Amino acid sequence: MVCGKTYSPDEVTYVCPDHGNEGILDVVYDYDAIARAITPETLAADPDPTLWRYKPLLPVASDAAVPPLTVGGTPLYEAPRLAAGLGLKHVWVKDDGREPTASFKDRASVIAILKAREAGASVITTASTGNAAAALAGLAASVGYPTVIFVPASAPQAKIAQLLTFGARVLLVEGTYDDAFDLCLEAADAFGWYNRNTGYNPYMSEGKKTVSYEICEQLGWDAPDVIFVPVGDGCIIGGVYKGLYDLMQLGWIDRMPRLIGVQAEGSNYLAEAWERGEDVLTKPPIQARTVADSISAGLPRDRLKAMRAVRESQGAFVTVSDEAILRAIPELAQMTGVFAEPAAAAAYAGLRRAVELGLVSPEERIVVLSTGSGLKDVASAMKGAELTGAQPYHVRPSLEDVRRALDD
Ligand SMILES: *Cc1c(COP(=O)(O)O)cnc(C)c1O
Repeated sequence: MVCGKTYSPDEVTYVCPDHGNEGILDVVYDYDAIARAITPETLAADPDPTLWRYKPLLPVASDAAVPPLTVGGTPLYEAPRLAAGLGLKHVWVKDDGREPTASFKDRASVIAILKAREAGASVITTASTGNAAAALAGLAASVGYPTVIFVPASAPQAKIAQLLTFGARVLLVEGTYDDAFDLCLEAADAFGWYNRNTGYNPYMSEGKKTVSYEICEQLGWDAPDVIFVPVGDGCIIGGVYKGLYDLMQLGWIDRMPRLIGVQAEGSNYLAEAWERGEDVLTKPPIQARTVADSISAGLPRDRLKAMRAVRESQGAFVTVSDEAILRAIPELAQMTGVFAEPAAAAAYAGLRRAVELGLVSPEERIVVLSTGSGLKDVASAMKGAELTGAQPYHVRPSLEDVRRALDD
């Protein structure tokens, strides 16, 4: 992505040798060969609902054995009440809280399992704000692969509980996600582990791109006009773009949706770079601080792909406050029945913001990507409920108390 040089898959494992950790690679495909292996018609006849229905579009061997957990195939819900509340006509919510470990990261981690096996590695490692680690630990557990995980000590309890439950060796790093990331790269190198790190391992955005295939297929290959994506490291939005790019190359969709990257005000590296026209290769890290832990990134590791996604799709970045994020949790839940963690609800908060800024118009077909389950961070969900004044009533076991609660 930095110099434009190309390598064959057996020449390099992670990054461009000339550009070190900044030299994130992009996987290149032979679309003519793919078009002979898979078409919208063969897909329509394929009963497999998981992301493996798109195997010819993924960087794995056609006969590679896949883990048993079902990744992908998440629902795309139309949300007419939510749309009407914003003066819009067509809004859908893609609910990736419904993945096996309850976040979008399963789409990437499942690819890491196959690539680690291919490499013959005995251990897989990753640094993570929590979800990528939980995804890796869960998918590894499904096939009995050992994992070593680096997360910031501040990660929400539920995510740490997932890691321990899946049997990962968990290292709580006293520092930020950025510190955990650097330490993990060092350790992987020192101990010869397979490295799943976001914005380093080029195959992770390839798993993530499958969400775009699903959205377009679920909409009958009539691409939406706009997609809202929460952005931390930028790997998801880079993957969303890549998936749409593939579909354009194959001629299965006829236009590129605008991608709107949503960042927290306290973790706005990419939004700031976008606004100021800064070069993300030289822009220094910021201090990231937000309630939406999954999008807290002082130096977004996949910043080149994220910037490309927004630029090439004529999209934009918007930022939302932590309060707007917390309020978005109950609002999205009450309008759609989808319970999102803070980073996921940020995408919906970003849609609200974009409406205020006039970035979307009433007739446009809009998809909001909900990337993780609300059960991942119950403490934040409680804060969101409190902000909207919602509270439970304490009642004695008497009808009189029930009446009082109903009259309140
Ligand atoms: C990781 C994550 C994001 C952000 O993805 P990036 O690739 O870091 O930009 C958003 N939401 C949730 C729930 C996540 O786990």
